[in-house]
Amino acid sequence: MNPSPCIVVHSLGHPRIGAHRELKKAVEAYWNGKSPLADLEAAGRALRADHWRVQKNAGLDLVPVGDFSFYDSMLELSCLVGNVPPRFAYSHRAGEPVGSDTFFLMARGSRGEKTEKSEGRETCGCGHDHGAPAATRHACEMTKWFDTNYHYIVPEFHSGTRFALSSEKLFNDFEEAKAQGIAGKPVLIGPVTYLALGKVQDAANPTFDRLSLLDGLVAVYEEVLARLAKLGATWIQIDEPITALDLSAAQKAALKGAHARLAKAAAAHGLKLLVASYFGPLRDNLADFLALPANAFHYDAVRGEEEIDAFLAAFKEQAKGKILSLGIVDGRNIWKNDFDASLAVLRKAWAAVGEGNLWLAPSCSLLHSPVTLRNETSPSLDPELKSWLAFAEEKLDELAALRSFLLGTGDPAALEANRAAQAARRASPRIHNAAVARRLAAVTPSDARRVSLFRERQKLQRAKLGLPAFPTTTIGSFPQTAEVRAARAQWKKGTLSESSYEAFLEKEIAACVAFQDEIGIDMPVHGEFERNDMVEYFGEQLEGFAFTANGWVQSYGSRCVKPPILFGDVSRPRPMTVRWSAYAQTLTRRPMKGMLTGPVTILQWSFVRNDQPRSATARQIALAIRDEVVDLERVGLAAIQIDEPAIREGLPLRRADWAAYLAWAVEAFRLSASGVRDETQIHTHMCYAEFNDIIQAVADLDADVITIETSRSNMELLGAFANFNYPNEIGPGVYDIHSPRIPETGEMERLMEKAKAVLPPRNLWVNPDCGLKTRAWAEVKPALKNLVETAKRLRAGV
Ligand code: GLN
Ligand code: ZN
Repeated sequence: MNPSPCIVVHSLGHPRIGAHRELKKAVEAYWNGKSPLADLEAAGRALRADHWRVQKNAGLDLVPVGDFSFYDSMLELSCLVGNVPPRFAYSHRAGEPVGSDTFFLMARGSRGEKTEKSEGRETCGCGHDHGAPAATRHACEMTKWFDTNYHYIVPEFHSGTRFALSSEKLFNDFEEAKAQGIAGKPVLIGPVTYLALGKVQDAANPTFDRLSLLDGLVAVYEEVLARLAKLGATWIQIDEPITALDLSAAQKAALKGAHARLAKAAAAHGLKLLVASYFGPLRDNLADFLALPANAFHYDAVRGEEEIDAFLAAFKEQAKGKILSLGIVDGRNIWKNDFDASLAVLRKAWAAVGEGNLWLAPSCSLLHSPVTLRNETSPSLDPELKSWLAFAEEKLDELAALRSFLLGTGDPAALEANRAAQAARRASPRIHNAAVARRLAAVTPSDARRVSLFRERQKLQRAKLGLPAFPTTTIGSFPQTAEVRAARAQWKKGTLSESSYEAFLEKEIAACVAFQDEIGIDMPVHGEFERNDMVEYFGEQLEGFAFTANGWVQSYGSRCVKPPILFGDVSRPRPMTVRWSAYAQTLTRRPMKGMLTGPVTILQWSFVRNDQPRSATARQIALAIRDEVVDLERVGLAAIQIDEPAIREGLPLRRADWAAYLAWAVEAFRLSASGVRDETQIHTHMCYAEFNDIIQAVADLDADVITIETSRSNMELLGAFANFNYPNEIGPGVYDIHSPRIPETGEMERLMEKAKAVLPPRNLWVNPDCGLKTRAWAEVKPALKNLVETAKRLRAGV
């Protein structure tokens, strides 16, 4: 510890995965039975020790403890408070702590029912979870943590839920840090956020009010505080990020009530509480937040930038004499901090809160940042690009540097270097492409409109395509077999020549098209064998993207993603998929569907520029995709699918911001889709089916055909489309690709009958829920045969 720092530097949480994804390796080895629990625990200790050492060396005065997990923090909290759903047969009444078996069972479901994939959950390949598949239905649900790409384990509540302190992990971690000479700051997700982000699972009492559980829950927090005080803790961080959401009056009251009790307990034990808000401005929650009886408040000054002056004014009024922890370094993006800009904000804050009351921190936990640039070897990240970036470890250094500049003890050369890096980035010709700017400026509203209205287009497309009723198609990808992955790896390594790799891909495409022809798929696809990933593949071919070798971020459990870095103006120097789609079309007389990823999804799954609005970046990507769409049409593709599985997850946290987001997201899609003639059929695909609140925007996309995920919900989720009288064509998925189970014809027919009952039969397609890349050919072949048979039966029935 720094003896008496005038400005405390701390962090809200550190990435857990390790600089070389050690966490993934250790956890998966344990799951696969390759190593005992003792090894996993040793790996955990080593990672924690390393993280604490790194943070201490960076000069942090307070180091988070309790932010580590082998899976997820919300799950840790459920175990801490003994909230284990009844099906896991754990009862805290026995006084036993929740063991690691129960912990992993909650995360992954029972082993007997697990089917494949070391992560224990299957994904459609988009890198995101879509709920627990049928085969692991006993696992707790998982969902996105706010608008990050991190997924947490959803706590379950029912009228019989009772809480009791049921895990020693937090206390053990605190002691472990102490042994390392670290006076840790325990981190807990707050009780109101915990209740708000869970779900009520109570068949007998579906309207059960979870807030009625608050008292019992807070009682456990009180016990936790007492225990931590005994161990020698001083500061406790309580995260209440729901303060960045729209809150009900009841939730606001719950915050007030819960934190009054927590503050009292803390004071009784000589502890101090830091309450943290992050991920957005506070707006109408500002006064309620600052009214909480905490000793310190953390504020996300990156996401809350628009509100900083109002926040500081309110702080002066409501929280005079308290401590402000300002989240000044972006915990969710990878850009180097602009010291001059940050110092301007910090000086303002310092003046408002007074000497000794300002702390510096990242905006949120660094969980959402890649670990370090230290080991970054990617050839795509040249020294110039690298000089613009900061990952978690570098962000800690930035905090320490900002403190030194504020205190006037900083190295002027370091400030100069930061200025130079910012200026270089701003002026770099690699970021600014005049042709892109000119093109954007020339975009007119008609560029985002098809020539004719859907009804007119539908006639022309029907005449051109000559498809039967209930046409069959797939979502694009076919099995990415070990052979396909091996060939790509060899080609990347240089051990397989370009021409051999291309010949290999052609062979795969030919076999895939022949199969679809043989079973009678009406609109075949080429199979996407050339793709590693649906965003990276396009990013690699577009201007403006860079790729890390090791920039992993935890997505859920042991699963990590490596988002591309979108650093500059986007353009498409040359066709990307045309070669494969054109080749595939030569192999069949049926209309081949070209396959692209849409602009919003590419944006959503990348680290994006912070020097222009997301909407502007989306438009640039849209124009690049538009070029590809037009080229696909030119070489003879009569149908082109533009996948947008991420439109929904891009929704802002506050309802009030939805309309503006949806307006530019829809415009970006339409811009990408509208360069073609009326008779060219534009498809889109979304990997979910909760459309109630965005159905107008989905309709506004004006795709000729949309395919969605519906099989697991038994078509119930089609309701939104039916109630809305959705006018365009629609393919409700009838084959659950998240499960290895092969659906029978009768079953798919029943699903389609349900769809027929609520939507005009003439607009219906028959297709799987999502891409088939994670499935095996042995499953795909019979399943698609049954799917084609389903369509035939439907046709016979009309
Ligand atoms: N075309 C992609 C595929 O079939 C779509 C994947 C997705 O939407 N996640 O794999
Ligand atoms: Zn999908």
